[in-house]
Amino acid sequence: MDESSFILGVDLDGVVGDFYGVMRQIAAEWLNKPPESLTKEVSYGLGEWGIAEFGGYDRLHRFAVTQRNIFRDMLPIENAPAVLRKLSSRGIRIRIITHRLFLKYSHRNTITQTVEWLDNYDIPYWDLCFMNDKGAVGAHVYIDDAPENIVRLRRHGCRTIVFTNSTNRKLPGPRADSWLEMERLVMEAQTEWKTGTLDLFGAPTAG
Ligand SMILES: [Mg+2]
Repeated sequence: MDESSFILGVDLDGVVGDFYGVMRQIAAEWLNKPPESLTKEVSYGLGEWGIAEFGGYDRLHRFAVTQRNIFRDMLPIENAPAVLRKLSSRGIRIRIITHRLFLKYSHRNTITQTVEWLDNYDIPYWDLCFMNDKGAVGAHVYIDDAPENIVRLRRHGCRTIVFTNSTNRKLPGPRADSWLEMERLVMEAQTEWKTGTLDLFGAPTAG
């Protein structure tokens, strides 16, 4: 495994970890509402849950990280850890890229919980990048769920597979609705990278 390997840039929240599932439970407590009253069909930023009048997303996020250990306790998305282990054992270099440090003063909690969670579910990775500018880490293919990230990555010529959830249904593919589908797409992308064909992503993109 070295820098000449195929590098897969993997987002965590909403892709490997069931961020919206655990956040729904935490938000219900924080808002003092029954969880069933909070729709699962959320958009990015969770505006549908009416958090604005309680102080907004940043307040909820800080509570979730510092008081409810969201990054330690969230469940993985079905099949994600096992498929990542398979991809890694096939020589794909897993580079995790997350923007979890977007709030000041909770970095120690965030980083500690993240590393413990990755170990606890035996999720393989060679690189762990906490950054907003995901394109800067130079992966061959990216997996993400946040519309803003996907659009920005693609604008910069980064080949990106959408992992489907309610926040991103309007975006064009390639996309995977499950990790089993993701496994197939990533293997296809690795083959294309090796052979120079471009079936999955179409015409060559800049950058
Ligand atoms: Mg995400």
